Amino acid sequence: MKKIFLTFVLLCAFFSFLCCKNNEMTQIQIFQFNSFQVNTFVIWDDTKECVIIDAGCFSEAEYDVLTAFIAEHGLKPVRLLTTHYHIDHILGNKYLKDYYRLSVEAHQAGKPFWGDASIWAATFGVNQDDLVAPDAYLQDGDEVKFGHSSLKVLYTPGHADGSICFYNKNDRYVIAGDVLFHTSIGRTDLPTGNYDVLKQSIMEKLFTLPDDVTVYPGHGPKTTIGFEKVNNPFL
Ligand SMILES: [Zn+2]
Repeated sequence: MKKIFLTFVLLCAFFSFLCCKNNEMTQIQIFQFNSFQVNTFVIWDDTKECVIIDAGCFSEAEYDVLTAFIAEHGLKPVRLLTTHYHIDHILGNKYLKDYYRLSVEAHQAGKPFWGDASIWAATFGVNQDDLVAPDAYLQDGDEVKFGHSSLKVLYTPGHADGSICFYNKNDRYVIAGDVLFHTSIGRTDLPTGNYDVLKQSIMEKLFTLPDDVTVYPGHGPKTTIGFEKVNNPFL
């Protein structure tokens, strides 16, 4: 009888261990880079595979901060993702693409921005060779896999054509780029910006997520879907 009980306890422990493994949450590290203070995200799970979203790093010092963090935590970057092609969100893409041998992934509708790279480079005093076009395209509904985790791509134009968000349903957060901020929304006065389109994106793609989903914007502090539904004065 004692033996059966012991076997039962061990089996319970084993299966709860398996369950825990499957419920492992992703971890997020946020950096603020370049003069626009863009939020750059490193997200990983217990496999140590990670994605980098919106590589804003723009100096040797910022490159070092990011690569040192990844090395110190034993992480393996497997995807290099971009929410949209505004210059402040892509400044580190070339460096990281070469350093980790990754493809830059973004939505194809952002083409006007990499098509006009020379104009953007001149405007912001950046070397045009440091701005690279995407190597692969993401579409609405795609699942971005890394480790045993997944981020769903939501197409959310209005701030800029080609804007996408990355939604982690399991861990209940969304990386929102410049679409939705804490009590604010993305500006719509830049090329391809459109308030009505932006509002539609937020209403249909973000405000249909559960209220307790955390929103990590491209600039500034995090918020939640529920808080913005009630408190955002621009919607
Ligand atoms: Zn932007």
